Amino acid sequence: MVQGTHVQGVPPVVVSGVSRLLDLEGLAVREITADGCGGRVVHVVTADLSASACPSCGEFSTALKGHVTTRPRDIPYGTRPLRLVWHKRRWRCVDQRCARGSFTEQVPAARPGARLTRRLRAELADAVAVQHRCVAEAAAFYKVGWSTVHDAFVARVDPVLAQPLPVVRVLGIDETRRGRPVWAQDPDTGRWVLACDRWHTGFVDADGTGGLLAQVEGRSAACVSGWLLAQPASWRAAITHVTIDLSASFAKGARDGLPGAIQVADRYHLVQLANDTTTAVRQRTVRETTGRRGRKVDPAWQVRRQLLTAHERLRPAKFATMWNALLDTGEAGVEILGAYIVKEDLRSLLALAGTHPDRTLICRRLTTFYDHAAASSAPEVHRLAATVDRWWPAVLAGIETGYSNSRSEGYNRLAKHVGRDAFGFRNPVNQRRRIRWACTRQHRRAAAVKTPMPG
Ligand SMILES: [Zn+2]
Repeated sequence: MVQGTHVQGVPPVVVSGVSRLLDLEGLAVREITADGCGGRVVHVVTADLSASACPSCGEFSTALKGHVTTRPRDIPYGTRPLRLVWHKRRWRCVDQRCARGSFTEQVPAARPGARLTRRLRAELADAVAVQHRCVAEAAAFYKVGWSTVHDAFVARVDPVLAQPLPVVRVLGIDETRRGRPVWAQDPDTGRWVLACDRWHTGFVDADGTGGLLAQVEGRSAACVSGWLLAQPASWRAAITHVTIDLSASFAKGARDGLPGAIQVADRYHLVQLANDTTTAVRQRTVRETTGRRGRKVDPAWQVRRQLLTAHERLRPAKFATMWNALLDTGEAGVEILGAYIVKEDLRSLLALAGTHPDRTLICRRLTTFYDHAAASSAPEVHRLAATVDRWWPAVLAGIETGYSNSRSEGYNRLAKHVGRDAFGFRNPVNQRRRIRWACTRQHRRAAAVKTPMPG
């Protein structure tokens, strides 16, 4: 950049202290006026010699054709509104062979035809990508349109998100609900049906630092296998294990997409299932004995939280209180305790995960679990045992490897946070982009922020 240039027939531009304060490369402040509404208007002119070079042929022009005025938006400065007016020159290309007849000046700070300065675009992208502000809020703050902020964010993050996937050994597959389920009444039958229940399936690097790799709409086997098969075969071949919750469609999708990978049943989902079983038994027995739902007066209701607390976390006195209270209620209480014991058996089996246990120890704990389940009269407990049996190879793989879906659960929390921050998303594509960006590892995000933005 050449400052204070002098071109024939045009008064020289002096780069003053005010220009340095404004700090827009290639532009100099000519004067500052009041806009009559309490704001300021900064009139700038081009102070960059290369701006008179033809963008097509590179030939410097000395033939002035006329003047144009543009009003690019810039970042806020000071408390009162500040508007830029750029008095540009239009030049005639002097090279006879050049197809371009004339051109206006352009400087690094603002792309030709851009309605924003480059630095404002960068700040808009930062507001969403780095500060995680919601698009509407950033648009209101910078007094620009929603789509202006959105476009700046997309231009920043899409190149990073489009990079090839990192190598993954353990792939985690999990689902998240997108928005709230919506119920609607059928006009003919009068029955309430689930009108809209949208899900996203997420793929994460369950054992490495790859973060959230992708999200797809839906949660069927076809959604899972469709995404997997769209990835390069070499990337799929590197995956040795795939962790899933106890969903048959995910198991099928993973089998179709990754036939060579070992499936791992997420042990936290198994514990959740055992807890739900205990609760189901408690609620049913109370209903059967009292003919109503549990209330504060019912001993089983009073100990409902202790029943779900891990045994080792329960103080001995609390445990004794729970045990005795249920025993005192007779047969129903014994049935609940039976479910509780089976739940604890399953937990102690799963606690072996990651400890490199030998087969006999696994076998002993599994046998205990099945024995106690068989002794129970509760159908809910039998269902739990059947589920463990059906998923046994995947459950065993989890115990032997220690792999779980805990990381995708963490990303699910992040995803919900992003959704709340944005006050919900109307567009699922935007939602997936925001969530993936939020779940992209820090070092990949930092690289994108350092890369200069186009325009
Ligand atoms: Zn030219």
